[in-house]
Amino acid sequence: MEKKLIIAVDGYSSCGKSSFAKLIAEELDYLFIDSGAMYRAVTLFALRNGFIENNTVKRDEVVKSLSSIQINFKFNPDQQIYETFLNNENVEEEIRQFEVSDYVSPVSQIKEVREKMVELQREIGVFKGIVMDGRDIGTVVFPDADIKIFMTASPEIRAKRRYDELIAKGIDVDYEKINLNISSRDKADSEREISPLKKADDAIVLDNSNMTIQEQMIWFRKLIEKMGNEN
Ligand code: C5P
Repeated sequence: MEKKLIIAVDGYSSCGKSSFAKLIAEELDYLFIDSGAMYRAVTLFALRNGFIENNTVKRDEVVKSLSSIQINFKFNPDQQIYETFLNNENVEEEIRQFEVSDYVSPVSQIKEVREKMVELQREIGVFKGIVMDGRDIGTVVFPDADIKIFMTASPEIRAKRRYDELIAKGIDVDYEKINLNISSRDKADSEREISPLKKADDAIVLDNSNMTIQEQMIWFRKLIEKMGNEN
């Protein structure tokens, strides 16, 4: 395919959006951006600065500090991944911790946070040739994206995959805790007022409950082929 595209991959928590989006980007030689990492970086900043206390996000403090938060991505050639930087510090590992996962949904509900992240995401997409995954990429960030994929998988399968992934990394985790975090984020992300998680009307659904990553890539190649034939 000659023309450089914007590909939006949205969907529920832990259904493998990033792994899938990253492989698509590799295959097409595109840029891959994990927009969730940006909301996670803001959440980490809020935690470090005491803006989250007693289970409550201090909204005004987060908004006030937004101008001192800089987020960017740098490619790590050894690991072949884009890593997330918060004010020039590599926070790729820290943003994946439970504490961040627990508070990222309330932080990402803040209007001003979303406005800043969406602006950044659009700046990155300006040159096209990009695969971005998140919750509102096809609906809000790039409503004119060339390809919109909406990913889903059964909640049990998602929790089990996340559990296996963490165990494989040597992290001691409780399955029930993961299950709870996934379902509460699904609920918060789908029910929030601003840019809720929902399928764009023109998005194609990919339910990968019973698919390997290789099967998902075969699905994607067929989609591209079909699009090429139609154009
Ligand atoms: O993709 P990931 O699970 O890392 O995203 C973490 C959280 O960031 C989501 O649960 C959601 O609250 C928020 N998010 C969002 N909009 C996006 C991407 C992520 O609100 N585009």
